[in-house]
Amino acid sequence: MNQWQTLIPEEHLLLQVNKSKLMEFTQTISKEVRLSGSEEELRAFHYVKETLEEMGVETQLHFHQAYISLPVKSHLTVADQPIPSITHSMGQSVNHLEAELVYAASGTAQDYQRLEVVGKIVLLDGLATPIAVKTAEEQGAIGAVFINASYTHEMIVSTVWGTPTLENKGLLPSIPVVSVTIETGAVIKNYLAEGKSICTISTVVETGIRTIPTLIADIKGQAEPDKFVLFSGHIDSWHYGAMDNGTANAAMLEVARILSTQRSQLKRTLRLAFWSGHSHGRYAGSAWYCDTHWEDLRENCLLHLNIDSVGAMDATVLTEANTMRETRKLANDVISLVADQEFTGSRFGRSGDQSFWGTGTPSLFMGLSEQEPSEDPAAKAFSQLFGSGKSGGFGWWWHTTEDTMDKIDPELLERDCKIYLSIVWRSLTSPLYPIDQLEAIADIEGSVQKWQVKAGNRFDLSSTLARIESVKASLLELKDEMKIAVKEEKVTLINHCLLELSSYLVPLNYVKGSIYEHDLALKQPAVPKFSDLELLVQTTPDQPEYYFLLTSLQRKRNEVNYALKQANRLVQETLRCLQK
Ligand SMILES: [Zn+2]
Repeated sequence: MNQWQTLIPEEHLLLQVNKSKLMEFTQTISKEVRLSGSEEELRAFHYVKETLEEMGVETQLHFHQAYISLPVKSHLTVADQPIPSITHSMGQSVNHLEAELVYAASGTAQDYQRLEVVGKIVLLDGLATPIAVKTAEEQGAIGAVFINASYTHEMIVSTVWGTPTLENKGLLPSIPVVSVTIETGAVIKNYLAEGKSICTISTVVETGIRTIPTLIADIKGQAEPDKFVLFSGHIDSWHYGAMDNGTANAAMLEVARILSTQRSQLKRTLRLAFWSGHSHGRYAGSAWYCDTHWEDLRENCLLHLNIDSVGAMDATVLTEANTMRETRKLANDVISLVADQEFTGSRFGRSGDQSFWGTGTPSLFMGLSEQEPSEDPAAKAFSQLFGSGKSGGFGWWWHTTEDTMDKIDPELLERDCKIYLSIVWRSLTSPLYPIDQLEAIADIEGSVQKWQVKAGNRFDLSSTLARIESVKASLLELKDEMKIAVKEEKVTLINHCLLELSSYLVPLNYVKGSIYEHDLALKQPAVPKFSDLELLVQTTPDQPEYYFLLTSLQRKRNEVNYALKQANRLVQETLRCLQK
């Protein structure tokens, strides 16, 4: 990239980010509670659509069916005393469940070891996460009560990504789930200490197929209009959601406003996507968009940039946001320029509208700015939930009634918007796509080496490591070509190669199942196709399961190795064309 040519207009561009516009957009979007598929949410969608059209940006508002779950009310008693509580999206509705309540701490496998919870309701510390609910179900619990923090936090408790299929509908939660505050949790623990453990739960959760909107807006690029950066964020909310996700939608509008005046400079298209079904449908909007535009995403989308919960007061940490290794340099260059912080980044977990790994789309960010680390129970829980555990997450008001305009800092919102604007600008204007494939393959290599150490002599990954070496060597050659590629024709060849490579490397690094499906919203290791190695090392050759695992691992290794072979062939062919 020619730094000199792009940096000067970029500085000029960043000065156009307007705080008062950002605050006005946020205020208008977050004036109503935006449940997925509701009239209130649709009014916010229309506001965003009309605002974009006033900027001269073309929009398309789609309506489609999705599996949505809206928690309505719950009634909880312990020792005959009513306890204020909320219930959760995708939890079960029950009329009157009565059972013994058992305290299971954080609900880890060890926590359950000394307990008998079959037919009982479990009391757990922390947020109502899908994994904690799944574990409670697997242990035989028939209900779950979570002790959150000073406020109760809304959560969606299902692991099923988007609208279920016949194959995975059986994985939807089958038990009622409620949450209480840390203060009432202490009261409940006292009852249990006194031997008073009879608990009743009634819940109403409205779950079913609803019509939800998806808004798409394109600012067309000039040189290669079919190639695009997908810049996405959800509009639906828990409560007023000023931070989550009013500020993010505002930043998207502000980026659109500024770039709509710079169309002649954009090589590629900016595609803004506003989702519904994020909070109440486990990313049903982005999953639907992926399923309906799979080929376009695979062949034309060079980057998915997501935005969530930006611009909050005291959100000074800019070093830990989610990134892939191949997009990390892009983020670091911009964050050091705008905010003078050294971005390290955290690997993505399975959350936050990351519906585009199967299509092989490199990803950057979900949230961006976070709170300083703290001992607050809410801060600790969020930090574990989203990132590296090294920062304080989105703030104690996240997913509560308190996510209101007074939590927004206009200066920090302006700063976050500048970071997104700069990343979008660079991705749409740099001659070469800003995707570092050498970083991607190095990341995969590190993970495969770890798998080999884990497997020991039970399973051989040397053929995989050899293929990785070949890809690396080819990419080093390509890097030399990139330094001297100034002719349009050569740049086009290299970009095509970079984009195609992602369709091999992103799924290798991030997808466990089929690239046409969506993995569950559960933590999974890097290069997850080898995750059966975890089980293999716990099994011995006198068990048939050992050979079942070997069989499946052999097939996975074929899949990984062949993808690496295709990736290498692609780079080699590109090199041949470049050197002609
Ligand atoms: Zn959000």
